[in-house]
Amino acid sequence: MSVENITKILCYIYPISKEKITYKNVSFAPVKHLYLRKTLFCKDECLLCSRCCIAEDNIYLPFEVNNMYYELQRKEIDTVLHKLNGKGYSNIEELIDSLEEISVVINDKKFKLFKSSLTPNAYTFEDRGELKRCHWDLPTEDGRLGCGIHTVSSLTCKMPHIRFLHNSKTNTTSIGHSQYGRNWALKCPANVSKTEYSYDSFNTVISNFELLKKYCEYFEIDTYCDDILKILYKIREQGIETCVNYCDKDIVEHRRKLFNV
Ligand code: SF4
Ligand code: SF4
Repeated sequence: MSVENITKILCYIYPISKEKITYKNVSFAPVKHLYLRKTLFCKDECLLCSRCCIAEDNIYLPFEVNNMYYELQRKEIDTVLHKLNGKGYSNIEELIDSLEEISVVINDKKFKLFKSSLTPNAYTFEDRGELKRCHWDLPTEDGRLGCGIHTVSSLTCKMPHIRFLHNSKTNTTSIGHSQYGRNWALKCPANVSKTEYSYDSFNTVISNFELLKKYCEYFEIDTYCDDILKILYKIREQGIETCVNYCDKDIVEHRRKLFNV
């Protein structure tokens, strides 16, 4: 049985939401204070080792499924995925075949999604404990395990170190990079710096928030995702060191002022 990942997706959305969100009779209040932390701009050196890839469903919006067909037409995908798991794009074909259309109800509105929920894999490996692993966590050409659908993995795979730390008593959210509970438990070997800036990691942060924005819009939830992106674009334009002008300032309270920095 794989982990159902709709809740995980909502755990990225409710901490930045301007409105109440209700899913499966559980409600989350709108965020009152929202901070970006400096670590969000620091180096997050994910090694793509897949130790954190437990058995989870892969959830997709309809446009992401269209992208899978587009990916199948790209020649270079074969090289990337072949290197990762020796099977080339046949994994994407298997992924597309496995997709099941589902509907979820959020805030009393029904939305169509696609889910892949295949049998967990049965590989054991010396660098990790006994645990059911994601179906797509496959042996690589160089004798490791790695993601077999890397270029079309789902939102829930893409930001293992971006933490949306949310205090439900004060409805305050802090967003930054960190190693935390689950990753410690799974012995994640990545270097997640608290001081060293990295444009590579920063660009990944931007693309993750761009994707998250599409989820917020699709679910018709009004969030601060746009504001966060505006700040990220400003920092990219002005230089990563200028993040200090925006970090640790409450986006909810100071949004106008922040955009004039
Ligand atoms: S987050 Fe850590 S455990 Fe997961 S793939 Fe990256 S380096 Fe490996
Ligand atoms: S799809 Fe890939 S990145 Fe996501 S959990 Fe599975 S192996 Fe890991």
